[in-house]
Amino acid sequence: MRASACVAGIHLGAHRTVRLATPNPTLQQLDGIGGLIPGSLVTVDWTADAAPRPPHVEDGHWVPGTLQKTGQLDEDGLLALLDRDSFRGVVQAFGEPVNWGSSGNASYSPGQGSRSLATVRCTDVELAVWPDRVRVNFIDRDGRRWRAVPLQDLAVKRHRVMCKACARQFEQTLRREFEGPGRLLRVGLAREWNGGCWLQVNAIFLGKRNHFVPFTAPR
Ligand SMILES: [Zn+2]
Repeated sequence: MRASACVAGIHLGAHRTVRLATPNPTLQQLDGIGGLIPGSLVTVDWTADAAPRPPHVEDGHWVPGTLQKTGQLDEDGLLALLDRDSFRGVVQAFGEPVNWGSSGNASYSPGQGSRSLATVRCTDVELAVWPDRVRVNFIDRDGRRWRAVPLQDLAVKRHRVMCKACARQFEQTLRREFEGPGRLLRVGLAREWNGGCWLQVNAIFLGKRNHFVPFTAPR
């Protein structure tokens, strides 16, 4: 089976958040254009789904052969863009969760909601690093504390399995770049699983991303 990835971004012309939902992007396709990180600028032939199932209202069809990388925003430029439409907290973005998992993470009702991707302002970020996963604990600007939220950052996942430097000091590097007083988080609601759409963190922006940039071959 081909490894797939979730790819979403901001349509700069229409000023809306969009996801490359159908077909599901593969890692090979992303490698083919040199990999993507937050702030990558792309062009792609994309059409919104006529009747997306909430909360995944950002879904659309795309034509794989048309995906091209055209540039890269630096982190300050990306933060300025994201901050314009940021929320002061998870509840403002998605509403109150309907359920909580045993780990402490929050979930939402499938079939409801007005978005599944958002930028949230935060005051503090800390990580729980396990052998096979990373969980994020954070406090948003509303003062709400969110626990054990899975980190679904593609560059981080690939470094963990492909990067020689990360084989020696993954956790230290991760904490250096993604822990501390917060700025912005990209958060999302996953596809329905185990009865709910679970909160996840797609990217952490503290202005310190240096190591976790894409690469397409072992180094
Ligand atoms: Zn690495």
